[in-house]
Amino acid sequence: MATGGGLWRTDRLRALLRPGSTARAAVVAAVVAVALLSSAYALGRSLIPDRPRHSATGATGQLDGSHYADQPPADPTGPEQAGQEGRSASPSPTASDRAGDAVDETLFGAHVRTGDDRVALTFDDGPDPRYTPQVLAALRSHGVRATFCVVGEMAQSHPDLIQAIVADGHTLCNHSWNHDVTLGKRSPDQIRADLIRTNQAIRAAVPDAPIVWYRQPGGAWTYPVVSAARALGMAPLHWDVDPSDWEAPGARKIASTVLSQVGPGSIVLMHDAGGDRQGTVDALWQILPQLAARFELEALPTDTT
Ligand SMILES: [Zn+2]
Repeated sequence: MATGGGLWRTDRLRALLRPGSTARAAVVAAVVAVALLSSAYALGRSLIPDRPRHSATGATGQLDGSHYADQPPADPTGPEQAGQEGRSASPSPTASDRAGDAVDETLFGAHVRTGDDRVALTFDDGPDPRYTPQVLAALRSHGVRATFCVVGEMAQSHPDLIQAIVADGHTLCNHSWNHDVTLGKRSPDQIRADLIRTNQAIRAAVPDAPIVWYRQPGGAWTYPVVSAARALGMAPLHWDVDPSDWEAPGARKIASTVLSQVGPGSIVLMHDAGGDRQGTVDALWQILPQLAARFELEALPTDTT
């Protein structure tokens, strides 16, 4: 049964559309305007290339001779893949809402943003004697502090670099013993032992180093690996900006990707080891002055999870 309101609206519309009515002209003009705007919007959409998929999935990249690149495990059916795809397919949020929603439940609650407007740069897979000192020099030159997600066996081999990182005021993140992208599928005891061994290697260099973050290699999060990290006092750390620098696309490409995708609260993923990282180092000298002008850059905190 039609409601009185619906009938009223029909009658009113007929009155408006009556020939000769001045309102009719206005309605027709409005309809035409909406149609034109819709067409222009559709055309504009078609001209904009799809944003590159979030390379947390990194499925098409080459390893560049590295066994440390943050690519996902080979098994595309794992639950962490579904999680990453869900995350990857998300449209880029607007700048105004990026700082919120700091964790991503599809990534088992891993932090994807800092939680406020500050931007965090993170450097993974080191320390590496070829590139870590160059990254430290670039950061020092611009007065920027960052977070280094270090691999246990690299920390054991280069304790002096762990000390240099901490001495410059940067913060640390556990990135597993030997960058095992399938660590999350191992037993809880194996996972726990891997994370403890890595922290011990870091603390052999800097005994009182706070380590309150854990980043799973490849972003291949699982519930057991997140549980193990949390039980050891470490919060899971993901990212929301990934220039795929491990694919060595060149400094210009790395810089343009970071500068175009970063927003308030972004966590930027880069690498100071695991292959030829000169492009990342060179990109930093382009990125840092521009980012520092637009955002407050800060290392991830050591007093909160
Ligand atoms: Zn990594």
